Amino acid sequence: MAWDICIHGDGITGNTLALLLAQQRLRVGLVGSAKSAASTDVRAYALNAASRQTLQSLGAWPEAADNTSSNTQHTTPVTAVQRMQVWGDDGGQISFDARSLGQDALSWIVDVPVLEHTLHQAVAAQPLIERTTSLGPAKLHVVCEGKASALRTQLGVEFEAWPYPHHALATRLHSEQGHGGVARQWFSGGDILALLPMDGAQGHMVGVVWSTSPAQAAQFAAGEPQALAEHLSAMSHHTLGQLTPLAPAAVWPLQRAQARQWTGRSALGTWVLAGDAAHTLHPLAGQGLNLGLADVARLAALLKARDFWRPLDDARLLRRYERERKAATLALVGGTDGLQWLFSQHSSPWAQVRNWGLNQVNQTLPLKQWLAKQAMNL
Ligand SMILES: Cc1cc2nc3c(=O)[nH]c(=O)nc-3n(C[C@H](O)[C@H](O)[C@H](O)COP(=O)(O)OP(=O)(O)OC[C@H]3O[C@@H](n4cnc5c(N)ncnc54)[C@H](O)[C@@H]3O)c2cc1C
Repeated sequence: MAWDICIHGDGITGNTLALLLAQQRLRVGLVGSAKSAASTDVRAYALNAASRQTLQSLGAWPEAADNTSSNTQHTTPVTAVQRMQVWGDDGGQISFDARSLGQDALSWIVDVPVLEHTLHQAVAAQPLIERTTSLGPAKLHVVCEGKASALRTQLGVEFEAWPYPHHALATRLHSEQGHGGVARQWFSGGDILALLPMDGAQGHMVGVVWSTSPAQAAQFAAGEPQALAEHLSAMSHHTLGQLTPLAPAAVWPLQRAQARQWTGRSALGTWVLAGDAAHTLHPLAGQGLNLGLADVARLAALLKARDFWRPLDDARLLRRYERERKAATLALVGGTDGLQWLFSQHSSPWAQVRNWGLNQVNQTLPLKQWLAKQAMNL
């Protein structure tokens, strides 16, 4: 089949874009690596309302999945977050409540292997998408290869990266007390710990993202899972009682990064970047994939709404995509980075300022509502 668009990279962003374009009757080549289908990712992603809507429109929201992915250890792949509670390191606190914002949920915690499995099934059922391991000619090439994209390097695109002095450790734990659909986050001595509710509102499973020094992350990931669970029980002040291990831990280096150029022409043809290939940020706000899904939703919408005489590789259209998505990404990256920086300062004036700030925002309802809506992409 001759392709209209070739997507490089078959992660969540690439699969979603392929489905969005096939809905427009475009023929899509989806270039992936030849790895086996079953994912062993221990992470659970916080996805916002916009991401959920995109995936639902494609029939790829895991709620309705048959849940046969071999790596899942539970039966409810999506958990609505009713409340979020954040603790500073010196008495500061802030909480957000879905009901008081007039929403069903603040976000949804989604089991990553189940989401990947659901997307793969949807792609397999779409005759206009051809899965392949080698690229071919197309009017437009979309690079969705993630943060270490080889094609982006080949295209000569500068990728400015600022590594954080932290790595992220992710795992899954059983909590003695039910999480009650509450996402909890602690800022503590420069570290950030998030316990995300999984396995439904009544669940006792939490997805862990712990941002800490590379040495500490490596030591705990290689050590006894019980020792890690005990450390995190103490770090979370036993808010959910005793935590016990459910899965091995995995570690990711963290960086903020942004491609200078998101679209251009080369010997390959016209190209455009999306997802982590274009930008990465700290996972403390749980926004990386939300940004990637917003990229591909916007790109697909612009292509769909183009004047009938504009080709798929129309430079004006692609520059508009670049402009809009760069601006949205920068706004979010700035806020996330500022928070990470503020909580990594060890001197006492900073500790007072950040904890005072959390309490002030908590008491200022309009500002708090605005912040929550930004994070929810409403
Ligand atoms: C610990 C942690 C927690 C996170 N939590 C959240 C969260 O709660 N919410 C959220 O929104 N985001 C979260 N993120 C961010 C999220 O993981 C990324 O933003 C997201 O995975 C990016 O998706 P992607 O498809 O753009 O890239 P990737 O997931 O990196 O996928 C790229 C794909 O391209 C393939 N590929 C690469 N090179 C080639 C090649 N040369 N040829 C063919 N295929 C290739 C890869 O095999 C892969 O399948 C988190 C990140 C971390 C590290």
